Amino acid sequence: MGDDRRVQVLVVGAGLSGLTAALFLAQQGVSVLGISKHRGTSPHPKATGQTHRTMEVLRRAGVADEVLAGEAGLGGGLVIKVAESLRGRVFHSIVHEDDEWDATLSPERPALASQDHVEPVLLRRARELGAEVLFETELVSLAQDDDGVTARVRSAGDEYAVRADYVIGADGHRGVVRGFAGIGRQGPGELTRHVGVVFDADLTAHIVPDKLTLFYLRNPAFTGAFVATNTARRNVFTIEYDPARESAADYPVQRCVELLRIATDAPDLEPDVLEVTAWEMAAWVSDRFRAGRVFLVGDAAKVTPPTGGLGGNTAIGDGFDLAWKLAEVLKGEAGVGLLDSYEAERRPYAKLVVDGSYANYVQRFAPHLAGPDVPAEVDPMHLTLGYRCRSNAVLIEDTDPSPMEDPADPSARPGFRAPHVVVTHNGREVSTVDLFRTWTLVTLNPDWRAVAAPSLHVPAVTDPTGALSTRYRIGRTGAALVRPDGVIAHHTTNPPASPTALTTTLHTLKSL
Ligand SMILES: Cc1cc2nc3c(=O)[nH]c(=O)nc-3n(C[C@H](O)[C@H](O)[C@H](O)COP(=O)(O)OP(=O)(O)OC[C@H]3O[C@@H](n4cnc5c(N)ncnc54)[C@H](O)[C@@H]3O)c2cc1C
Repeated sequence: MGDDRRVQVLVVGAGLSGLTAALFLAQQGVSVLGISKHRGTSPHPKATGQTHRTMEVLRRAGVADEVLAGEAGLGGGLVIKVAESLRGRVFHSIVHEDDEWDATLSPERPALASQDHVEPVLLRRARELGAEVLFETELVSLAQDDDGVTARVRSAGDEYAVRADYVIGADGHRGVVRGFAGIGRQGPGELTRHVGVVFDADLTAHIVPDKLTLFYLRNPAFTGAFVATNTARRNVFTIEYDPARESAADYPVQRCVELLRIATDAPDLEPDVLEVTAWEMAAWVSDRFRAGRVFLVGDAAKVTPPTGGLGGNTAIGDGFDLAWKLAEVLKGEAGVGLLDSYEAERRPYAKLVVDGSYANYVQRFAPHLAGPDVPAEVDPMHLTLGYRCRSNAVLIEDTDPSPMEDPADPSARPGFRAPHVVVTHNGREVSTVDLFRTWTLVTLNPDWRAVAAPSLHVPAVTDPTGALSTRYRIGRTGAALVRPDGVIAHHTTNPPASPTALTTTLHTLKSL
């Protein structure tokens, strides 16, 4: 028996969600222990592609440039098509060779790094900030009481207890934390089975060389997908199979290579096959994202089809969202009620992500499933930058039930992300996105400063282009109260009404 350990937060899982949570908890000075049963971070390219919003989160962590560097030659952007083969008939072009990013939406552009590049970056940064992350360390049991959670952990044959104030289940779609917490899950469940082939080959003559290429393939010989990753010559090919008729064992390397030659229109291709693995595409959302002191993030909370590229992005988003809320509560800056907002905001979001990705799956892979039960397709920009949080940590006063809006035409209403605007702050041009490290009041009216509590950040900004007053809809008199995650929590076009009203509002939002 090893010694017992005591930490504020135990994070079970060191994938994208767990590492993000550990990093941001450590950044706030919270003592955090991360454990993973695997030997290290994922060697598989898996989730490739970071949205604007994910890049803003990574910018906050101080690693956006390092993640961008992982694109290695893919600076030309993205091509996504539904086609018969790489050079065959194109059924549908989802992202075209000439499509460009909208640079007005964010100080960051989307990146195209793969998971085997991003996870080590997050791990290094989390450790640098003080998080302890142990590999080959497995959770074996979990029990909570009113004061904390006791986990039993096994490493190198040794078993010991870890006592924590809170536990984050970041242990992926087959994770055990959800079961220990007694949380069920709903959804279409398993959609399809796949064989995934990771291989090296020179395909520069077959794909646009500097773009991340994703082809959903509907070929008479097979249904599948092809991804050219950010690692030179490294590609991923997946083949869908029907478990009623076949198993993964029916796909030995030689059969995979034959199908790969059809997929790439390269009959003489001699790929260097690195790995053949079986995986299932599924769609699940957990019934709850929290049971007492135990929270679920990432794939442990929901499993989304990869058609939409949001599994990894929402894993990072969950970890970030939960971390700032837990840190505020553990530091005594917010009441425990703030933690209620995690599930209230992230579970409906997970449902939108899963539904939208399932709609994409039907359109791209399985048109025969089309019908009235299939959810509507969702605009990815609306989903990633225009989602509206609804919870006790935002004060929504209008009755508009829409879950999303177009981020190119932001309404600046509570619940939405505070838009990116370039302002002058301390003599420098900065993005508003960089002003939100804590609770922040955005205003051009100095009267608000006089009524702001000392804990509230009121940056002195000037608005040379007028974009701040119009995009935030605050004019010269009003103010927008923005949370540490850059979400507008309260908004008014009026000047301050009383010396105490703002502090009361802030305390309500923080559950104090
Ligand atoms: C083949 C494939 C392709 C994909 N492509 C994409 C894509 O293009 N875009 C996209 O966005 N997403 C994609 N995904 C999904 C994406 O990889 C996941 O959404 C993402 O990895 C989820 O991260 P996570 O941190 O929640 O979980 P995981 O990455 O699954 O991490 C789980 C962690 O929990 C640990 N763990 C599990 N059980 C225990 C235990 N008992 N004790 C201790 N540790 C434990 C594991 O060791 C691991 O560290 C793909 C997935 C696969 C499999």
